[in-house]
Amino acid sequence: MDSNCTLTKNQSDIIFAENECSDGMCCFTCVIPSNNGHIGFFKSMWKSGTGSPYVKLLVTSEGHKNELYDSCKFLDFIISRNSGDSILKIDLRCSIYKHRPRQCRDYPDSAGESLYQQISGPCIFNEYTAPGAYKDLVYKRKWDAFYAILDDIDAIRNIFVNEDAHIARESLLKAEGVHLATISQGTEELNYILIPLSKRTQNILYLSEKHQPVGTIEQAYHRWQEKIQINLQNHYGTEWEAKLNNAIEMEEKDAGKRCNEDTTGNLKR
Ligand code: SF4
Ligand code: SF4
Repeated sequence: MDSNCTLTKNQSDIIFAENECSDGMCCFTCVIPSNNGHIGFFKSMWKSGTGSPYVKLLVTSEGHKNELYDSCKFLDFIISRNSGDSILKIDLRCSIYKHRPRQCRDYPDSAGESLYQQISGPCIFNEYTAPGAYKDLVYKRKWDAFYAILDDIDAIRNIFVNEDAHIARESLLKAEGVHLATISQGTEELNYILIPLSKRTQNILYLSEKHQPVGTIEQAYHRWQEKIQINLQNHYGTEWEAKLNNAIEMEEKDAGKRCNEDTTGNLKR
């Protein structure tokens, strides 16, 4: 969703918890269809996670409109502090982990049609943390991502564990890179606390063997190649390679035929 955002302020450290997939980025973007259609009627009556509806994902890039994504209803967004130090730890978890929909379980390994919409790998956090050379090749724009927490004391109370909400808000605002911002969506203007999404990957344990962090362009190329082959196999079955070679042969024959024809389509003498 498009939105406008005005930064007003800036300044301890915020890290991800050591947890599988602790950035939760896909729970804002690729996995979920609009209106959380993936959770179905029955699950829509289940209790929400702590992130919804207070936390959104803001994507910014110069020269482009900002994009604001709602979180999945079941995303738990938790910030805690280790006793004795000032480091804040962000942990994003699925509150219905054992019952999460198939497209969430299969993402990012399984690309293709889901019951509700097409989901495709690779994992969006891999893309976000990939080296600049890879991004220059793949993306037309450089983008940054932020968690946007509604600047509201109830929202903060919901997110911070074992902490007074007012003290928690102050320590959050002192953390490095955190900003206050006003975001307008349509006619509505709301204040948010923006936390830049960490690009440090050492704390992320990847669920997927296939979608390890993107390190080099060559590695990314092989991944694309593999994806194309899987698509061909899904479409044409196990015979895909023979069919592809056959199609290339036919194309070459057709091209040869065209060279031997004059502009009227008659064979040259
Ligand atoms: S690491 Fe990838 S799959 Fe895991 S939560 Fe982040 S975006 Fe989703
Ligand atoms: S159901 Fe769980 S894994 Fe799926 S998008 Fe929601 S929070 Fe993420």
